[in-house]
Amino acid sequence: MSHFICPKCKEQLNINANSLVCKNGHSFDLARQGYVNLLMPNKRHSASPGDSREMVMSRRRFLESGKYEIFSDKLNEIVSALSEGSQKITIADCGCGEGYYDGRLCEHLQKLKINYGIFGLDISKEAVKAAAGKYKQISFAVASAFDIPVKENSADIVLAIFSPMVENEFCRILKPNGYLIYAVPGVRHLMGLKEAVYDEPYENTEKDTLYEGFRLTDRRSAAGVITVSGEEAVDLFKMTPYYYKSELSAIDKIRLKGEIETEIQFDFLVYKKEERKSNENI
Ligand SMILES: [Zn+2]
Repeated sequence: MSHFICPKCKEQLNINANSLVCKNGHSFDLARQGYVNLLMPNKRHSASPGDSREMVMSRRRFLESGKYEIFSDKLNEIVSALSEGSQKITIADCGCGEGYYDGRLCEHLQKLKINYGIFGLDISKEAVKAAAGKYKQISFAVASAFDIPVKENSADIVLAIFSPMVENEFCRILKPNGYLIYAVPGVRHLMGLKEAVYDEPYENTEKDTLYEGFRLTDRRSAAGVITVSGEEAVDLFKMTPYYYKSELSAIDKIRLKGEIETEIQFDFLVYKKEERKSNENI
């Protein structure tokens, strides 16, 4: 059995040689790296949506420098605290990118001897390819968080790290009493980098924290100061949404700036899936 369901008919997908197959005969090949592409054509996105290979490689280089390790450590700490007392914990990373956080989370849970299963989805095929090529203990699929190819009530924890909040889908795939960990940029996140590019950089706004089907149970922050320069600073800039909005000269500014010191901050919002009220079906 795989973690996934058929995106066409929603039946369970089972592993059959190098494919995932449902009982209605829909078949999806496992790529050489071990991931499966379950993304259906949709007018909401282009034929190959999400980060390009260049963006994915920038992200991997930057993350593997260890400069965001404090965020990974904080995530690991939150997940292991939520896993306490569980026999086995199933984690769905919706927007897994190139897999850095999931890879370190696996190592952490193994060290603590917590029994786990992790699967990751991303809309970017290049991101999933890079993730599956490196982190063999995790199941990866190309898929949209707006149409998650997973049965209802199948995850104990959903991760959404700087990815879109899709509360109805997250709620659907979570088990009763499951948790959603939603990581968002803190108010001063990357302020120094923004100062290097913009004349009038602005702070991030605090996210609205109310989502249907969820109750906010905790809010943890991880923050620090890092120094980047040259191509590493460019890699970091490419990971941000500002990159898409900026002119090419922004990249030159960063490249020529020399050392850039910047604050970094992630806020981890922890939500519990709300119990359905008994009168809901009346
Ligand atoms: Zn099917």
